[in-house]
Amino acid sequence: MSTKYEIKTWRSAVERKPEFGKMFDFEPTTKFFDQLSFVGDPAVCCFLLETAEGLVLIDAMNPEKRYMDAILKGISDIGYEITDLKHIVITHGHGDHYGLADELRKLSGAKIYISEGDHELAKHPAIGRFSAMDYPVDVYLTDGMDLKFGDTVIHCVETPGHTDHCMSFIFPVTDEGRPHMASLWGGTGLNNGVNIFTYLKSVDKFELACAEYGVDVEISNHPPVDNGVERLNTVRKIANGVPNPFVIGKDNMHYYFNKFRTMSAEALKKWPDGISRQPMPGK
Ligand SMILES: [Zn+2]
Repeated sequence: MSTKYEIKTWRSAVERKPEFGKMFDFEPTTKFFDQLSFVGDPAVCCFLLETAEGLVLIDAMNPEKRYMDAILKGISDIGYEITDLKHIVITHGHGDHYGLADELRKLSGAKIYISEGDHELAKHPAIGRFSAMDYPVDVYLTDGMDLKFGDTVIHCVETPGHTDHCMSFIFPVTDEGRPHMASLWGGTGLNNGVNIFTYLKSVDKFELACAEYGVDVEISNHPPVDNGVERLNTVRKIANGVPNPFVIGKDNMHYYFNKFRTMSAEALKKWPDGISRQPMPGK
């Protein structure tokens, strides 16, 4: 069963896990496209997307003061105020992605978006340090939904696996004015209970969607997964005219998705029934 996913690579196929709680010497805000900024640390991050309808925050990190400080600083670093935050779009129902959503909504009046199934999941967090999402959200995300914020459209693709109703996103960005299409794979790790075969089906589904939309950029909400830390360090010092390391090109998207296939193939060697017994990171 697993042979289909045995992809030849000389690189490490071992899953890279976020190291929560470790403090890093790392700038929390990095603008890395004309309208997209990274906010976070090398364990987990969120993204500020500037649109004609104000700021959109994609994910909301852990419910911890240092992450709240990072988001507030990020908003100010890119020249906005908290009341400019209009939409908070969440990939999935784990507390390191929705953690500050409600607090930020109270401060800004922004709307919260998540899939209904993952809202249910988030009402009963499996990890004690995560707060429950025991409050109403404003919009339930569904497969194929287009979120229109001014002339920016975020296309939603339901990609079950990491959680049952995890969402992945495709949206346009520009870099020095050059147009690109970005993708965010919403849920990465093969945590305890994940059905690896379901996860793999979603990898195929999202790869197809990315090809359809002409995606040539990948970003991750856990920077260790895709050498995000190293690439952000490059972006901070990048000279104008030099290619952005997050633009990997349409042809390379397939190889990027293969990383999830090789990671899954490794996991299937351990759990041939396809059900992961790996603990949640940081548990
Ligand atoms: Zn998660």
